[in-house]
Amino acid sequence: MNEKKYLLYIDGEFREGAKKESFPVINPADESIVGLAATGMVEDAEAAVQAAKRAFYSGAWSSFDAKQRSAVLMNIAEKMTERQSKLADLIIKESGSTIFKAKAEVALAIGTIVYYAELIRTPYMYEPVIPGAGERTNSYDFVQRDPIGVCVGIVPWNFPLSLGMWKISPALAAGNTIVIKAPTEAPLVLLELAKIVHEAGLPSGVLNIIAGSGRVIGEYMAQHADVDKISFTGSTVVGKRILALSAASNLKITTLELGGKSANIILEDADIAAAIDGSLFATMLHSGQICESGTRLLVPESRYEEILTGLVTRGKNIRVGDPHKADTGMGPVISKKQKEKIEAYIQTGIKEGARLILGAEGLTGPEYEKGFWVSPTIFADVHNAMTIAREEIFGPVLSVIPYQTEDEALRIANDSIYGLGGGVWSKDKGHAVEVAKKMRTGTVWINSYHVLTPAAPFGGYKQSGLGREMGVQGLMAYTQSKHIHVDLGNNNAFRYKWLLK
Ligand code: NAD
Repeated sequence: MNEKKYLLYIDGEFREGAKKESFPVINPADESIVGLAATGMVEDAEAAVQAAKRAFYSGAWSSFDAKQRSAVLMNIAEKMTERQSKLADLIIKESGSTIFKAKAEVALAIGTIVYYAELIRTPYMYEPVIPGAGERTNSYDFVQRDPIGVCVGIVPWNFPLSLGMWKISPALAAGNTIVIKAPTEAPLVLLELAKIVHEAGLPSGVLNIIAGSGRVIGEYMAQHADVDKISFTGSTVVGKRILALSAASNLKITTLELGGKSANIILEDADIAAAIDGSLFATMLHSGQICESGTRLLVPESRYEEILTGLVTRGKNIRVGDPHKADTGMGPVISKKQKEKIEAYIQTGIKEGARLILGAEGLTGPEYEKGFWVSPTIFADVHNAMTIAREEIFGPVLSVIPYQTEDEALRIANDSIYGLGGGVWSKDKGHAVEVAKKMRTGTVWINSYHVLTPAAPFGGYKQSGLGREMGVQGLMAYTQSKHIHVDLGNNNAFRYKWLLK
């Protein structure tokens, strides 16, 4: 075999896994092998956690001041920028992303590390001295933000680089050390990132990146007593398992970014042409494999037929094919298993009485003989109780649900176990904001979708997650606060006399 092999990055070294095994990473567009990834085993996870622990307690990183940490993070950002085409190319090959999505992902990843490198140079860590007890007794109280310690980040395949950086950047900015578990389907871009980080002068053991089975090494680290914090992004079912393992071991500080079934509401007064294109973008980008995709489209009955016609006409324009081609709008789905899961949901939609208005014809031709393809699929006449409106499909499947009144639209939008993203389309932006405020979800886009900034917190209500990443909150999530009381004179006599007569 001539495929390029990517090694694990542990304690500042590139290593084979403990059993010297590797696994092929498959290009979902043509089933070719993109490269081999060294298989991390429990022994490797243990080595990575111990390296992170040694690095943390040595103070090699945690005792750096914010200015020094910021400089190293900026150096990583610069090196990522120099190699952005290579990073984007790997993302296209291993996860079937289009050029647009891959470039946007690399930009978001670089933007995230730059944001945190800059944030820690502001006085975020210093809360004001607390008056009160101090005034009365000639003492003062202050609160300091400390790093948490050894962190673990578990990353899914749909945005491997940017979601990896959502964990790496704030963790390192706050002075922690971290072990990243790269996704099994798309581990290469994170293993490539390890090479960049290595050159950028991060002390050994501060960042470790390993690949391998989630069930084996992910679970091992989720119950490891030396891990102080775990940040997981992935499905709700695995997220619950992580939380249980964390609670049953050492009660790690746990952040969960999980699944979604987001509602995208077109209001009666919306610019319908813009709302139609926006709603297709909200669902079909990255073949619907985005956690906050707007997969339930709520449409006013008064404009129902007009919107359905527009969705079909514009939906037929989505060019599905080779993600390396500039005119491709939608690439493959990640794997055969994912394709079969999506197709089963489409059959369930038909059986439960939803009306298939786009997608029935399927994809034919030599381009689709290899790889995992699902054509853009739209169901009309969906009821919110149907399986396709309740469960996360994670594929290019849009469920259109009619509503009569705005109150009904909000009731439907909020009737979900999830609450991750959402949209509102209206010419009256003030009114759209009022609607957005009533949606029980972590992010709402008005007349837009999928637009993220490192400066705003991201995360879910309900079973879409626990805690937030990004923004100032995302940095705080990698710190713990410590209250320090300082006696400035000998002020304790009046307290002691009650005990020491
Ligand atoms: P997944 O839960 O199967 O896997 C996510 C990660 O967890 C992978 O690295 C995997 O190897 C690992 N893993 C799997 N089983 C594990 C276990 N038992 N213990 C520890 N780790 C384990 O999810 P996926 O299929 O990779 O990604 C799709 C899911 O991720 C969707 O549900 C999507 O909504 C969600 N997601 C959420 C966000 C968010 O920010 N909320 C972002 C992207 C994806």
